[in-house]
Amino acid sequence: MAEALVCYRCGNQYPAVRQRCDCGEPLWYSTSPIESSLSLDGVSRSMWAYAPWLPVDRPVRGIAADVGGTPLHRLGAASGGLTMYLKNEGLHPTGSFKDRGSAVGVTAVADRGTGAIATVSHGNMAMSTAACAAGTPLDCYVFVPSDIPTERIEQIGQFGATIVRVEGPYGELYERSLELESDHNVTFVNSDSPLRTAGQKTTGMEIASEFATRPGLPSASDAIVLPVSSGGHASATWKGLCELRDAGLIERIPRLYLVQAAACAPIARAYDRSEPTVTAFSPDEVGETIAYSIANADPPSGTRALTAARKTEGAVLAVNDEEIRDAKTRLAREFGISVESSCATTLAAVDRLTETGELGTDEHVVLVGTGSGFKELTAGSGGSTAPTDVSIDDIASVFDDHERS
Ligand SMILES: *Cc1c(COP(=O)(O)O)cnc(C)c1O
Ligand SMILES: [Zn+2]
Repeated sequence: MAEALVCYRCGNQYPAVRQRCDCGEPLWYSTSPIESSLSLDGVSRSMWAYAPWLPVDRPVRGIAADVGGTPLHRLGAASGGLTMYLKNEGLHPTGSFKDRGSAVGVTAVADRGTGAIATVSHGNMAMSTAACAAGTPLDCYVFVPSDIPTERIEQIGQFGATIVRVEGPYGELYERSLELESDHNVTFVNSDSPLRTAGQKTTGMEIASEFATRPGLPSASDAIVLPVSSGGHASATWKGLCELRDAGLIERIPRLYLVQAAACAPIARAYDRSEPTVTAFSPDEVGETIAYSIANADPPSGTRALTAARKTEGAVLAVNDEEIRDAKTRLAREFGISVESSCATTLAAVDRLTETGELGTDEHVVLVGTGSGFKELTAGSGGSTAPTDVSIDDIASVFDDHERS
């Protein structure tokens, strides 16, 4: 059971609930599981197989009890000849990996017996937090920007949380939210809060475990490719892999390649310029992108994610909307997988990395499909085929070309 919080950068430890180190970087739980409780379970049906590494035990009821254990699809050869896999996080109860962190967050706050849970999000994290809190005694508050589309409100609202529309600069809300916690007995489980990253590290643990234990796969993947926004998931994935290595359960850590949308790519820019820390994109530098789930101009865990890419000898890339649309279409048509545009960035990145030779033809590479495409029915997100119109008396004509071929 993990208790203390630690800073990845300066190593400072903090005994109790807290989100940030004095140095300003995000904290995460330091884990010291009992050696004898550790093993790799590659076919586990939930993330709670890794409970010894988590700050909470598996809850007894609700969807949080069954989060994780998503399939790793073997896609086969990509254009460059390497072998691709997709970790299908879109199959979660609310359609994204956010359920991993929400499950831990909601369980931890509910275990304390009092208080409320809250999050600053207008997308997958909002929906996920609300769904995991449903049916618990916790009040759940979701803070969204005032210009949120109505469909999004309906998607979040179906789970019964209090939705708070905030007037004013939404980008500041993350920092402001942390100031509210102690005075109001509320826990914010934001994109990179320690509870959320504790849950999200299980993505990396499941991938590594599956390679280590599934017959017919190499014992480890060579690389993992993730879309990145706040940097919470990517840094958590790195941490999960480090913990397995430190426990002697895996030998090496795959290279982590992190991908952003070119219109909003502060982490990729810092990587390209070999800067030690990530600087925010200013409002006039940010462009429009179909990958709205990963458009974060000022990522709170950006520097930690940058560190993860560097330490694992991966990289941070930015891809444009045309590449994203094309990749999304290919994932659907070649493999039958519907992903959110934000995750299609991973296939676009593999194309780039194959062209430059950074990924070799003999390598095994995992794309993390962080969210389902089924929620994303916006015009122009790519991939749909125009229907053929016929009258009922002419339906046979549809097969004319088929018969001739
Ligand atoms: C939140 C989200 C991301 C980015 O995760 P971060 O932890 O914020 O970097 C990527 N893809 C999808 C589908 C998401 O919902
Ligand atoms: Zn620190």
